[in-house]
Amino acid sequence: MTIELSDRVNAVPPSGIRRFFEIAEERDDVISLGVGEPDFSTPWAARDAAIASLEQGKTSYTANRGKRELREAIADYAADRFDLGYDPDEEIIVTAGASEAVDLAFRALVDPGDTVAIAQPSYISYEPGVVFAGGEVLPVPTREEDEFRLTVETLEAAGASEADLLVLCYPNNPTGAIMRESDLEPVAEFAREHDLTVLSDEIYAELTYEVDGSDTSSGGTHTSIATLPGMRERTVVFNGFSKAHAMTGLRLGYALAPADVVGAMNRIHQYTMLSAPTTAQYAALEALESCDDEVKKMVDQYDRRRRFVLSRFREIGMDVFEAKGAFYCFPEVPEGWTAEEFAEAILREQGVAVVPGDVFGDGGEGHLRVSYATGLEELREALGRIEAFLEERD
Ligand code: PLP
Repeated sequence: MTIELSDRVNAVPPSGIRRFFEIAEERDDVISLGVGEPDFSTPWAARDAAIASLEQGKTSYTANRGKRELREAIADYAADRFDLGYDPDEEIIVTAGASEAVDLAFRALVDPGDTVAIAQPSYISYEPGVVFAGGEVLPVPTREEDEFRLTVETLEAAGASEADLLVLCYPNNPTGAIMRESDLEPVAEFAREHDLTVLSDEIYAELTYEVDGSDTSSGGTHTSIATLPGMRERTVVFNGFSKAHAMTGLRLGYALAPADVVGAMNRIHQYTMLSAPTTAQYAALEALESCDDEVKKMVDQYDRRRRFVLSRFREIGMDVFEAKGAFYCFPEVPEGWTAEEFAEAILREQGVAVVPGDVFGDGGEGHLRVSYATGLEELREALGRIEAFLEERD
């Protein structure tokens, strides 16, 4: 007998990059620029706070929505850093990673048959999340000539005016694109005009390096679409501690949204998760209270690496768009190759692992996602190997 799986699960194919991991395992000298996670460890103060909480036996559940103190700290942080004003009692929920928050939002807001427009290329979990919630995905491909920013033209061309929800991720995984306030304004207007609910994944907000052409050397300030007129009431903002605070394994994120939406998300969360990991909540509280300098140091490092990687790709003759956020860049593969062929060839021949852009949806074809959440020495070596690969073919 075989147990029948649900149609929703069957509708989602396994991740396309698994094959690459298998190839990578065949060599022991692989440099991975494939993963989207910081190479830094969690700042010590946050780790100490987690350890202390364990030593003190603070291992019970917390309030469903997360420790009040943490929600207050998140509210202060969001207000100070991004001008986002949310009530810690009603409008903030702490989750097991931003991933859980995204899933809760889909399940709370999507009815079977609802259409969810997703600006692509984008983080790989949105599409499956929509399918698991019973919705229909409408890809909205962004274009390199627009610096992978979402425009009203592309929204209209994709038919997004008929959608119910719109998912945005800026700074973007996988392109490294950012959207400035002036880029967000027309999108906000489109959302208001067509009554779209916006899900805005801002997990890379701290990793914004340049805004409005002024090279601020890791001082760029992210703008949230929720701060634009008439948007707060129709937007769910996701953020978390995985990226800027290097806390991926601690699994802590949160959502900011109007009270009824957070209430609905919490209804699912309380029956499925109860509360986000308690130890991680102590670490996160400390991270917000005392780790700004550490975050800044990491962001400075990413920025140095970003500049290096962009200039090296150009030097070796590969076109690459000027990524200004997150820790990815998105070079074009040379003519005559598909992204998958190129990624497989550099992995087999040179032991450099990157991810083909098509994995991230429409608009990603012909590109590679290259993560620079890796030390400069390894980046130097990896780019040297890619250069050698290209020279062999000249
Ligand atoms: N959102 C984006 C855009 C991401 O790139 C990732 C991880 O790569 C996540 C969410 C998941 O974050 P978390 O570790 O908080 O679940």
